Amino acid sequence: MGFLQGKRALITGIASQRSIATGIADAMHRQGAELALTYQNEKLKSRVDDAAANYGSSIVLPLDVADDGQIDACFDHLGKHWRDGFDILVHCIAFAPREAIEGDFLDGINRERFHIAHDISAYSLAAIAKAARPLMKGRNGSVLTLSYLGAERALANYNTMGVAKASLEATVRYMAMALGPEGTRVNAISAGPIRTLAASGVANFRKMLTQFEAVAPLRRVVTIEDVGNAAAFLCSDLAAGITGEITYVDAGYNIMGMSGIE
Ligand code: NAD
Repeated sequence: MGFLQGKRALITGIASQRSIATGIADAMHRQGAELALTYQNEKLKSRVDDAAANYGSSIVLPLDVADDGQIDACFDHLGKHWRDGFDILVHCIAFAPREAIEGDFLDGINRERFHIAHDISAYSLAAIAKAARPLMKGRNGSVLTLSYLGAERALANYNTMGVAKASLEATVRYMAMALGPEGTRVNAISAGPIRTLAASGVANFRKMLTQFEAVAPLRRVVTIEDVGNAAAFLCSDLAAGITGEITYVDAGYNIMGMSGIE
């Protein structure tokens, strides 16, 4: 029996088989969780329908986090399927306009790009957790989001997304404080770079992977399976004492100081 047997999980952010959300859904499914999935737009619907079929799930809901009406409708519908609530909310959503994630930080930033990056990549975590709150209350549930080292360190090209991820990580801590008394935990995984659709928007991503592999103590990149397994653990009762944390799944890259010197 898997360690998520009897848990219900809503997973956002599947866009392809390479999505981190796919790695998380796979791992949670293996551990016995019942899954519901969301899709951002009609273009992605059939892929998410296919993924749901693989997990034996019949709950597939539209959710563009830029639209408050869709957020409300998503959790209204979910409450009709899972009348007595659900246990796990996985947020795998980020977006920033291309110009804001390449080259010179100040050249690429403006009010609108800053706003979009923060709205979609950070505010959306609080927005969906707020809508999910009544359905998750009192179930020892867990909210999980995905961050990146660019939240804490200045990394070439990550730019405005790094600022949005810093906001996301702070949001994790404030949400953990708000939801803890109701029994709901809130955590983030800070994943190493993985080639996904979102990552392909970051300039020089391939170079970043090569450098990462050379420096990380495990001398390899991480996979969506690595992140998925850690996510399943963090959202399970095995992690009942962990909340408000940013957990690195990055082959150890973040611990390294000066690199390239043996
Ligand atoms: P991905 O492209 O597979 O997933 C990104 C998802 O965000 C897509 O499913 C897309 O539909 C969704 N999305 C974007 N705008 C949305 C909106 N308005 N409403 C609803 N959904 C929206 O890429 P991924 O790398 O799997 O990204 C998942 C998360 O992991 C992101 O938060 C990303 O920043 C984070 N992350 C990625 C890496 C990496 O190297 N790939 C590393 C660390 C963290």
